[in-house]
Amino acid sequence: MKGHVSLVGAGPGDPGLLTRLAVARLRAANLVLYDALVDERVLRLARRAQRFFVGKRAGRHALSQAEIHTVMIRAARRGRRVVRLKGGDPFMFGRGGEELQALARAGITFSVVPGITAAAGCAAYAGIPLTHREHAQSVTFVTGHTDREGKEPHWPSLARAGQTAVFYMGLGRIEHIVHRLMEHGAPGVRPAAIVTHGTSPRQRVLQADLATLADAASKANLASPALLVVGDVAALGPELSWFAPEALAEVHKSA
Ligand code: SAH
Repeated sequence: MKGHVSLVGAGPGDPGLLTRLAVARLRAANLVLYDALVDERVLRLARRAQRFFVGKRAGRHALSQAEIHTVMIRAARRGRRVVRLKGGDPFMFGRGGEELQALARAGITFSVVPGITAAAGCAAYAGIPLTHREHAQSVTFVTGHTDREGKEPHWPSLARAGQTAVFYMGLGRIEHIVHRLMEHGAPGVRPAAIVTHGTSPRQRVLQADLATLADAASKANLASPALLVVGDVAALGPELSWFAPEALAEVHKSA
């Protein structure tokens, strides 16, 4: 597909979680524009492509959002096969929508390859079922980071019982999140978990209850990327956890 942009989900880390379509697009690409959370092992699949980092590192953007749009549009107009590669799923807190709007306005053709979003990947590898007939009838994916005033999530509904709330980009605002949930009626004993570097060999899972979560996180010195899971299902983690890097090696060998 010449002169075309594929917006591709790279999944949360483990390259085994890529779709077949994502692998095919990476192999065929001649330019890959990728973000900070994309696993190096995924990137290596784009053997023939020029790779261009356009994400955020050490708090600084390599390229502004407008510059990313310009690079994509120019490359597509020159007839290149562009893959715009994003961690997880490109439509989940990844500005995928904004980038497609820019392409649409420029008259560039595009397609979208979904990926396993961090919530699904981390929950699976931490043994935390996001819904469970006894514990959670719904699940909400929330951003813990809002860059505009008045864009706060609806805390009363996130604090309700019988559901799971998954916070992306929440580690830096963990005290605020816990405070808000408890202020809106979530009990301090509600189970919670933090998964960092989910699905990768560096995965760590921290279990705590809501009242002690922020403290436990700072004592454990957790590093991003981190996903916060709040809800009764988080208590199932210790019983259902199965993932260890060695276990993964076994699973892949037998696949
Ligand atoms: N589009 C991505 C999310 C981008 S926002 C997706 O669908 O997953 C970036 C946030 O995603 C991080 O701050 C973190 O909260 C979460 N995240 C992504 N990869 C992760 C991983 N491997 N482990 C834990 N959290 C992750």
